[in-house]
Amino acid sequence: MEKPLALSQIEFCNVTKLYGPVAAVKDLSLAVRQGEFLTILGPSGSGKTTALMLLAGFVAPSKGDILISGKSVAAVPSYRRDQGIVFQNYALFPHLTVRRNLEFPLEMRGVKAADRARRVEHILERVHLTDFGNRMPSQLSGGQQQRVALARALIADPPILLLDEPLGALDRNLREQMQGEIKRLHKEFGKTTICVTHDQEEALTLSDRIVVMRAGQIEQIDTPEALYDRPSTRFVANFLGEANILEGDDFKNEANAAQLSGTVAMVRPERVCIAAPAAPKRAEADKRQSVIGKVDDMTYAGPVRKYQVRVGHSMVIVREHVASGQQTFKSGEEVRLEWLRSDVRYVAV
Ligand code: ADP
Ligand code: MG
Repeated sequence: MEKPLALSQIEFCNVTKLYGPVAAVKDLSLAVRQGEFLTILGPSGSGKTTALMLLAGFVAPSKGDILISGKSVAAVPSYRRDQGIVFQNYALFPHLTVRRNLEFPLEMRGVKAADRARRVEHILERVHLTDFGNRMPSQLSGGQQQRVALARALIADPPILLLDEPLGALDRNLREQMQGEIKRLHKEFGKTTICVTHDQEEALTLSDRIVVMRAGQIEQIDTPEALYDRPSTRFVANFLGEANILEGDDFKNEANAAQLSGTVAMVRPERVCIAAPAAPKRAEADKRQSVIGKVDDMTYAGPVRKYQVRVGHSMVIVREHVASGQQTFKSGEEVRLEWLRSDVRYVAV
């Protein structure tokens, strides 16, 4: 159920941003609840940064309005919007120590020196950088710089936190670690957070809700689970995870009376079972669909095994958790693929 509008802390009301003839953001309407962690997910160029910069006040809308706590911020300059921002690539001041970087937002707000020092020490502790206060940003690892950027965004205790691709510059292990860190900070500080990313895993892990953007517009908005399990369009299905689109003659027996025109059937790779063609059918065969195919490729990736199976002119991806006693199939082998009818989704083309 939609929460009442009064709880929205941030509202985009039909916001458009034009660059010449190009709409970087087009008629964007979006309400963000207090304390919510909302992620804007989309491919490069879909308007994510523009949306964030509109909210931060670095970019002015061509049309529409943005409300914070119910009031238009059209006339409020960026430095008075009371938002903490982590920019893409952090934008730390290179000529200032970590401590001075952190003091800066407090100075801007006229906080007294003694109070500044106390707050800097406190936030350094929170992000586990107590021993790094006197270093220059260039003397820090990527993950440490990222934590300084987060600390700088949080230090003035703003009610809203904006993160632009906060983990984009980090390698995989560090990224996972920092995802945990960001989650912890969100729990602890409870800031309304808008995070921009093109990384689906990051979006799924961190968010209360995800907005999928495409060409300046919202394609779908929902919780991570609902978006993954019930994508409304083919674009969302493909962007958030892998999707098997069951279209054309190869799957014509799978067409369903419930299918609306303008949609295609889709099944996620982990919902597809692989078996030898002669293997006994699973229970409740009438609830399942099956096709015969030929293994094109198999890759083993630790806990999962991924098959690419050719079915007529189509390729079906199967993702199977590795378990003992499991039969495995090699390239060229014939197999039967099966999935539950209830696992098929119909997505707009
Ligand atoms: P994202 O962050 O999703 O990669 P952006 O918001 O940066 O996307 O850009 C959205 C679109 O707007 C792109 O087509 C981009 O080229 C264009 N754009 C962004 N900023 C400017 C600008 N300052 N001048 C002209 N075009 C811009
Ligand atoms: Mg961007």
